[in-house]
Amino acid sequence: MDLSGLKYIVVGAGLWGATLAERIAVVLGEPVLVIERRDHIGGNCFDKIDSETEIECHVYGTHIFHTKLRRVWEYVNTFSSFTSYRHRVFTLHQGHVYPMPINLATINSFYRMNFRPFEASALLAKETRKESGDCVTNLEDKIISLVGRPLYEAFIKGYTQKQWQKNPRALPAFIINRLPVRTNYNADYFDDQWQGMPEDGYAAMISHMLSHPNITVRLGVSFQDIAERISPDSRVFYSGPIDEFFNYALGVLEWRTLRFAYTVENYPDFQGCPVLNYADSDISFTRVHEFKHLYPERGIQGNKTLLAYEYPQAFSPDDEPFYPVNTSENQSLLSVYEEKAACLPRFVFGGRLGSYKYLDMDRTIDAALGVFDTLKNSSGIKYR
Ligand code: UDP
Repeated sequence: MDLSGLKYIVVGAGLWGATLAERIAVVLGEPVLVIERRDHIGGNCFDKIDSETEIECHVYGTHIFHTKLRRVWEYVNTFSSFTSYRHRVFTLHQGHVYPMPINLATINSFYRMNFRPFEASALLAKETRKESGDCVTNLEDKIISLVGRPLYEAFIKGYTQKQWQKNPRALPAFIINRLPVRTNYNADYFDDQWQGMPEDGYAAMISHMLSHPNITVRLGVSFQDIAERISPDSRVFYSGPIDEFFNYALGVLEWRTLRFAYTVENYPDFQGCPVLNYADSDISFTRVHEFKHLYPERGIQGNKTLLAYEYPQAFSPDDEPFYPVNTSENQSLLSVYEEKAACLPRFVFGGRLGSYKYLDMDRTIDAALGVFDTLKNSSGIKYR
């Protein structure tokens, strides 16, 4: 691979890298090389058709596109149509199934009541008053301040401990802010204005983003493979783990990874919903994905269904990182790496791994569009 004279290199073919490559190729009209160490594009939103069941499988767990950001929604819609899918999740606690996130149906089933919204609000207010504390900084205090201890212990505590292998008091509150709490029967997992699934899947959408004559994609190539040969004039957009880039010189950032155990069941429908969470700590998986439900309009027939049992795991260097663990210790280490990164003006770090942020797909794209705007302004090119 000849890298001489190449102005733009993108490391990682996930959404952050694909967005930057696409913008550089189309708007700046410049050649760009995308390297990806895995054997596929799309990062952790990669999907493919399972050969046995012919069901589209999200290889790294269910990904739903949802956003409040108009520019992101308009951008992704130039590469794919989106279905009208709305994500609905249930959770199993002590042998009973409840809607998740917590809504009026969850509250009424849990308390065996028939509350109206204002009565449920009054109950939650009574429960939250039992717990003191004005300064809500951690995950446990935050959710207890919204729903009280009994609902926290039933639906959040065990799941969170399995997911993060940490005491919820050691985790930041923003993790739980991802879930709405509702005293009505709205059962949507997300509040965002725009939601759906790319009609032909994420891999097809991202492949479309990368299919420009100015873009060359090389799979199975890591940054280390080319680092020595990169021209000093190249701009590098790096979406691998930031600590790995610096060879862990200042320490190792903590990640969580996931293991998926796939199974095919001989039923047309096994669990009746796309994702069923398991709230209790005595069951070691956190959720079961049934991919068939993600594309109901495909009308998939047949008596088989593909499932994935999700097991959160401690991260080791051979794994794919999924979640940054944003404790205060990791945040402090991150800021030292960020200071080092700021001394390398040719490099921009981004995406979930490069920024060590718990970014959703839309925020990842938005961040890449922001990086591109800065690049474009500095290159003096008008937007086409
Ligand atoms: N969570 C929980 N119970 C649930 C679902 C989520 O306690 O049934 C908590 C858990 O701490 C999790 C966080 O909410 O890490 C965010 O959940 P989300 O579904 O957004 O996580 P992701 O899909 O990114 O894994």
